[in-house]
Amino acid sequence: MEGAAPVFEDRESRVLFDAAEGYGLRCLSHAHMDHAGSPTELNVMTGETHKIFASRKKYYRRFIESPLGVKIKLPQGLLLTALNSGHMLGSSMFKLEADGLSILYTGDMNVYDNIIQRGAEQHEADVLVIEATYGSPIYKFPDREWIYYEMIKWVRETLAHGDIPALKVYSAGKAQEIVALINKTLNVPVLTTPEIYRVSMIYKNTFRWLDFLRAGTREGDEAARNGAVYVSARRDVSQLANRRVRWALATGWVLTSRQDGFDAYFPLSAHSDFHGLVSYVKNHDYKTVLTIYGFSSTLARHLRRLGVNAYSLEEKLCVEL
Ligand SMILES: [Zn+2]
Repeated sequence: MEGAAPVFEDRESRVLFDAAEGYGLRCLSHAHMDHAGSPTELNVMTGETHKIFASRKKYYRRFIESPLGVKIKLPQGLLLTALNSGHMLGSSMFKLEADGLSILYTGDMNVYDNIIQRGAEQHEADVLVIEATYGSPIYKFPDREWIYYEMIKWVRETLAHGDIPALKVYSAGKAQEIVALINKTLNVPVLTTPEIYRVSMIYKNTFRWLDFLRAGTREGDEAARNGAVYVSARRDVSQLANRRVRWALATGWVLTSRQDGFDAYFPLSAHSDFHGLVSYVKNHDYKTVLTIYGFSSTLARHLRRLGVNAYSLEEKLCVEL
């Protein structure tokens, strides 16, 4: 394994994970743009990830679908299994088996369930390559139920004042979780930007009950006049249908930094927090644990103190397995 985004290499094959550079077969764990490597001759991902990428104008034409839980045989005899990573629709870890060695790459992962998705399950392997986006002990997220409760309370209060509650979130994953939360708990329309609308339409193939409108359309304007929730990846409006827009920010980063200009901040994340990552590692006796992304060195250091054979792929660029 080598580099910040991992590459697995043996005598005959080269497997790139997510945005790793170079030639080889590319395994894409989910449809977030910071994980979108350039298309290679063969690109492996779930059908949902492929569709969400396409809705975001990222095209992988030479593509093998890897349905969750199905072992697929790759050239040179490698076996690959995509497994739910709990991060967003279609997101997967990858388990790669080669020459009696098994490697589990988590991609971005969330071990906690949310309103539309199960958290990542535990899987065995010799080597675990785990993300460390929130791999520092300062990141301890409150229970999701509590965050949901606080969000709904803020939305209701904002509507009661005659204003439009607006949530700034990532377009893919978090936006649809919020649409689902509002749909399930409040009787109020949800307006989205065109970008979020396109991704939400892919979610609707799986979750048919999701209900949302595109802002700026006749229907959307009419809904806003009577009170609606707005979801956007940018703080792009201050008024909708002559109503004042109040903004809230929903991301795990609000635990340590808060951009100005928001009415409310919610630590809602599609990742595991530090404790979720550590318990994932401790729940199985992995021979080697490699950490990547975010606080990879901090997480590796903590894991070593717990007796785990752990390294950050940023500290140790090449690991012989
Ligand atoms: Zn992601």
